[in-house]
Order: sequence, then C-alpha cells, then structure tokens
Amino acid sequence: MLFSKFVDTLEKLSSTSKRLEKTNIIAELFKKVPSELISKVTLLLTGRVFPSWDEHELGISDRLVIRAISLATGISQDEIEKLWKQLGDLGKVAEQCIGLKKQSTLFSEPLTVSKVFENLRKAALVEGEGAMDMKIKLIAELLTNATLREAKYVVRTVLGDLRIGIGEGILRDALVWACFDKKIGFSYDAAKNELVFQSDDGRQKYNEYVELVQRAYDLTNDFAVVAEKSFAGEDALKKTSVETGRPLKVMLFQKAKDIEDGFSIVGKPCACEYKYDGFRLQIHKKADKVWLYTRRLENVTKQFPDVVAVIKEHIKADDFILDAEVIGFDQKTGKWLPFQQISHRIKRKYDIAEMAKGIPVIVNVFDAVMVNGKILIDLPFSERRKLIENIVDEKKDKIGVAKQIITNSNDEVKQFYEEALSLGNEGIMMKNLNAPYKPGSRVGYGVKLKPVMETLDLVIVGAEWGEGKRANWLSSFVLACRDADGNLLTIGKMGTGIKEKSEEGISFEHLTNLLKPYIIEEKGREVKIKPAIVIEVSYEEIQKSPTYSSGFALRFPRFVRIREDKSVEEISTIDDIKKLFAEQR
Ligand code: AMP
Repeated sequence: MLFSKFVDTLEKLSSTSKRLEKTNIIAELFKKVPSELISKVTLLLTGRVFPSWDEHELGISDRLVIRAISLATGISQDEIEKLWKQLGDLGKVAEQCIGLKKQSTLFSEPLTVSKVFENLRKAALVEGEGAMDMKIKLIAELLTNATLREAKYVVRTVLGDLRIGIGEGILRDALVWACFDKKIGFSYDAAKNELVFQSDDGRQKYNEYVELVQRAYDLTNDFAVVAEKSFAGEDALKKTSVETGRPLKVMLFQKAKDIEDGFSIVGKPCACEYKYDGFRLQIHKKADKVWLYTRRLENVTKQFPDVVAVIKEHIKADDFILDAEVIGFDQKTGKWLPFQQISHRIKRKYDIAEMAKGIPVIVNVFDAVMVNGKILIDLPFSERRKLIENIVDEKKDKIGVAKQIITNSNDEVKQFYEEALSLGNEGIMMKNLNAPYKPGSRVGYGVKLKPVMETLDLVIVGAEWGEGKRANWLSSFVLACRDADGNLLTIGKMGTGIKEKSEEGISFEHLTNLLKPYIIEEKGREVKIKPAIVIEVSYEEIQKSPTYSSGFALRFPRFVRIREDKSVEEISTIDDIKKLFAEQR
C-alpha cells in the first residue's frame, strides 16, 4: 500500500472536527487495508511504530529532525531553524523544504506504508555508537523519497504528534464500524452526520461491540493487537486476554466524600486499606524476566533494579501480574517519604544504582491480575487478595501486602483512617470484596478517602516569561483540563506555589527547564507549550469565566506538585470541574 494513500486519510482526518466523520474516514481506510498491513496501519494512525508502553522509543528530538531535513534537502540547518521559528511546526517545515528541493530531483521511489514503518522501527532500534547518525539517515531516506505532504506526516510521526485529532475512542469505534457493521446492521448517513440502524435493538448491539473492542484495548493497550483480533472475528476478539510483558490498563478508584458515602458505594462489609502516598507499579514476571510499568504504562524496569531483585526473591510464583504502590522511606528515621521525593526515580536515566541506594523503596502489593497463568480479572477481590497473601513473602522495608482490615463498622473505619494518616499515608481505600478487577475504569469497585481539599490535575499549555529577576524563567502558567474527546480547554493562569530557590522544592528554574523542550511558539513574552507536563493544582474556588475556553476559571490556583505519573489523557475533565463547581455552592 502506498504511503500516499495513507496520507490521504490523514489529510481528510485533519480537515474535519466531526467525530462521526472521522470515525467513518478511518473505517473506510480499514476496509481497504490488506490484512498483513492492518497492525502497521493501526499503529501509524496512533502516530507510533510501537505501542506507547513499549520500551523502544524513537527518541528523536527536534534537533535530529532538523539534521535529517538538512541531509535530505541540502538546506542548511540554520535556514531550517529560521523557517521553524516562522512556521512553528517541523512537519510544515519539512513540507516546504522538500518543495524547494523537489524541483531539482528527478528520481525518487514512491514510499510505501511498510517502508515508512520499517525505517522508523529501525531508527527506534539502533543502539550504540553512531546510532544518532543512523537514525538521521533512516529518516532522511524517507524524506528524500517523500512528496511534500508525505514529508509533513513522516516528520509528525517521528515527533509523535500527527495533529489529526483522533483519540482512543474514535479508533475503537472505527474498528467496530469496519469489522462489525454487518452484524450490527447500521450505516453512516454522511449528509445528516448520524448513524442509521436497521433494527430497534441496533443501538444496543452497537454499544455491545464498542464495549467488546474497548475491553480488548483495556487488556492489551495495543490497538495493533485489537485491530488484528477484530478483523479475525468476534470470537478472536472475545478471547483477547492479558499477557506478561504487555501492560493492561489499571483499575481506577472513585472518590468518597466520607465513610458513609464510601460504604454506600462499595457495600458492607468492605476491605479498608492504607492509601500509600507513592506511585503505582504494575509488576509483571514471566520465568526470570520482570517488567515494571507506571500507571501511565511507561516501562520503568530499568529505573528500579532494586524492585526487580525484591520481586524475584520475595514473590513465590513463576509468572504473575500484580498491582502495587511503591513508597520511599528515609533510612535514618525509618519514616515513609512523600511522593515528591521518590518521584524523580521514575525519570532517572543514569546513576540508577546509586539512586536506588539513596532512596530505597518499599513495594506494597494490593491487587493481582494473573498468577501462575491463571487470569484473575473476574474473581472477587477477596479471592485475589488471598492469592496475594499466599505468594508475597513479606519482608520489612522491602515488600509487603497492603495493610488491610475488613469491617462493616463506621467506627472501625474511622480508627483505621486516623491510624493511616498518622503514619503518613494519604488516606485509605475502601474496596468492594466481591468486585472483579476492571481495567481502565472508575467503576466504584473501590473508593479513596482522603482529607485534603480536592485538587485538580491539569496540563500546562502556555506560559509567560517573567520580568526583572525572573526574566530568564517562565513565571506564569496557562493550565488546561480536557473534555471527553480529549480536547484541551484552558481554565486559568497560575504563578503561586512555585519556589524561588531550588533547595526549597520545585522552583521556577526547574519548571522552566522542564517546559523548554515543549515550547512550540513564542510571541513577545508569551509562549505556547505542547501539552506534556501535568501538575496538581489547588485553588480556593471555581468561578464561571468567559476568559478561558472551559468557561471556568480557578480562583487563586496554587502549584502542589508535578504529576510525572499522570499522562495528559488522565487530567481532570470538564465534567469533574462542573461537578466541583456545583458541589461548592
Ligand atoms: P488517586 O491517584 O488520587 O486517583 O488515587 C488512587 C491511587 O492510589 C492508585 O492509583 C494507587 O496508585 C494509589 N494507592 C495507594 N494505596 C493503594 C491501595 N491500597 N489500593 C489501591 N490503590 C492505592
């Protein structure tokens, strides 16, 4: 399949913002793709050549792309950079540069989807000496053979930002449309932009298939796998399951207002557990191999050799997938450390062994998804817990099972809650004893109870350079929440809570350095920032406001911490904001 065919689809996708129209465009493409290309095309639609959790990453910076464009076109890096400042998008820069160059080249080979995919995969896999040059060559080769439009999308794929506005939901629905439209009996009326069902229960059947595809995605996090299963038919799709070395989405928890509310959601009696203030790790093991994933499903195995060793030594099973919260502790005082202090272990790329010694961690296992080949997702929580207790060989300051009581008494929960807080935990979890493990959703099988005022997790999408002594720092930050389709909506500007000096915590300098690589546009003092850095923000009140695209503004927003463990997809939604707005009245 020619890459230009694929690019046709991308162009169509970027020319509409209508969800159903986008779904239709992708479904039409899916129907035309030869079966051996299904997984490649699907991955490329997500702007990737590996699933997001895979340890292989393209790892190609803007700089390298500029070098590749230069190599492919003979245009100097300086000139390319100038153009980049003007256009603000390296995809467009590549398009223009190729345009300038095309007049002088006669021969080029048409790009195919496979060629693009293979070159990018190779670029991701090269290692060692000369790896950077090799990556540049592989990309330059694609650009040399690309048409103008193709060059734009090659570069955007390399940078992981296709700008076609499709999220998980649209891709999932497109698979339903492409694979099960006959079974459901429906068609898309483009003129009215709506679905037309052939029978009364059409909508219900449709929703069932959507759920089936979603389930497969929640279990695999890999649309390439889900697409292959969907095309293989309903039975194959239904049989999709978890596998070690491939993270599933984690189960999420609702908030409870108080103990009473908690009981009303999870039922009586329930399990109460400490809510450890650390970060979540999904732990996989198969024979001798261990994988560790964050809650964002990033592979952090390399960053935690100490955890890997503890897992191998203290969990008595051959293969498993477990859910755990990892906390740091201070060797001198023996006290647990707050999340901030261990969070930088997640991103650490060097001096890992030293860091592991300096900031040791304790693993608290709280759930199990698979043990010795047996998938536990549909077992009641109480039984999954028993299995954990059987296999975890508890070892002080290294590994344990989450501290738990089972009770139906408000007083006992209250006592447990106070005990949890006094030990430095964030609060407690209350869990339904009979509930299955539901990946990816906040279904109310468990709730969290914590004392602090509700904070929001928001993404930084803009900032302003400071003045006077802050002139070299970004000092005011534009924050955004998201809507159900993943569109970002601004909700205010924040400058409080960040420290002047690094010794005191997260400083302006620190945040500036973190955000600099994501600056996409600068006008005077104002900069636009690619949404990547998620922060937790407290505030005094939510107000209605025409100033921001969410229609709301935060009064006195204050920086609490960086949420390295959360992705942009996980930030607070406009519905959360509306709910909090209604509650505060
Ligand atoms: P939140 O991040 O505020 O949505 O709270 C949910 C998080 O609490 C989970 O994702 C875990 O990382 C963490 N957590 C800490 N202790 C537990 C526990 N015992 N059971 C479940 N989650 C826990």
